[in-house]
Amino acid sequence: MTRITLARRPAGTPVPEDFGHETYPLPEPGDGEVLVKVEHLSLDPYMRGRMNAVRSYSAPLEIGETMTGQGIGRVVASKADDLPVGTLVTGRTGWASHAVLQAAEAQVWDESLPQTAALGVLGMPGFTAWTGLREYGRPRAGETLVIAAATGPVGAMVGQLAKAAGLRTVAVAGGAEKCRIAVDTFGFDAAIDHRAHADASSLRKALAEACPDGIDIYWENVGGKVLEAVMPLMNDHGRIPVCGTIAWYSGTDGDTDRLPMVWRTVLTRRLSVNGFIIFDHWDGYPDFLREVAPKVTAGEITWLEDVTEGLDNAVDAFIALLSGGNTGKAVVKL
Ligand code: NDP
Repeated sequence: MTRITLARRPAGTPVPEDFGHETYPLPEPGDGEVLVKVEHLSLDPYMRGRMNAVRSYSAPLEIGETMTGQGIGRVVASKADDLPVGTLVTGRTGWASHAVLQAAEAQVWDESLPQTAALGVLGMPGFTAWTGLREYGRPRAGETLVIAAATGPVGAMVGQLAKAAGLRTVAVAGGAEKCRIAVDTFGFDAAIDHRAHADASSLRKALAEACPDGIDIYWENVGGKVLEAVMPLMNDHGRIPVCGTIAWYSGTDGDTDRLPMVWRTVLTRRLSVNGFIIFDHWDGYPDFLREVAPKVTAGEITWLEDVTEGLDNAVDAFIALLSGGNTGKAVVKL
């Protein structure tokens, strides 16, 4: 089997030398365990955080450890009665061709649903969007929502759910093509290319035009220039679900020293700013699947994925993801 490890901690944006590639004999599952042959691996922005040795909501990776990640694949050896050979399961396989999982950690995936949906639209990112919007966005018809990384799996789901709830939805995305996809594929009312705006004040002017009634919900995916542009446009009693700050994950963007402006706006506009981590909400996942899976099957919710072939290419795909090189949910096909 092969696996990709954390070879050293990145200084800023990761480079290929930060990752190791190892080959070794297939492990045997122990009692109550299964050996899974991974067919698809999910690449997600949070993995960048695990590469740093800093306190966060979960422990950092150790040097030499397999890169963390969720995969989907088939059981090829089993010592767990309820998971026979051939069962399709998802679980924390890591960046590896095979993984030994405890039966309790492996979730059986419904074969009638697309396999890769388990990693995106019906997996952790889609569930993040559904949960955060209900709990912390609290959308009301007629309001305006702004979201960046709008064509990714979180952004696309938030945009479609908000639109269905009767909101005006405004996308921020990188490049003209992603802006076109945001409007044509995901139904956003308007899309703004953050790369076409050199600074926050220019981006703010474009956002102000796209949001004539101000912003009621800013779904925070990125931080940086977008956050700085958005804050003065927030309406009283607006909500900001803080989901991610990818512009700052590698410490390369957004050192804007705008803390006083941001914090003062939270006060004067009486904003509700809620950080949340989806791992605290897993008990709601069955409800999410029950509500959203039929909509995905019926084509009422659209999704897009960006598939890279081969585990060896996961590193390049991950590095690209961090700077917007993906269009849709980043997945590796093994
Ligand atoms: P995406 O597939 O959308 O990938 C990330 C995107 O971020 C890129 O494609 C790029 O899109 C955008 N981006 C990167 N750098 C910048 C920048 N400097 N300024 C603006 N945009 C940038 O990711 P996901 O949908 O999987 O995740 C979106 C966010 O949600 C991430 O921050 C992630 O960490 C967070 N998240 C948080 C969870 C939680 O539990 N709180 C759970 C899941 C995700 P573009 O080219 O359009 O700019």
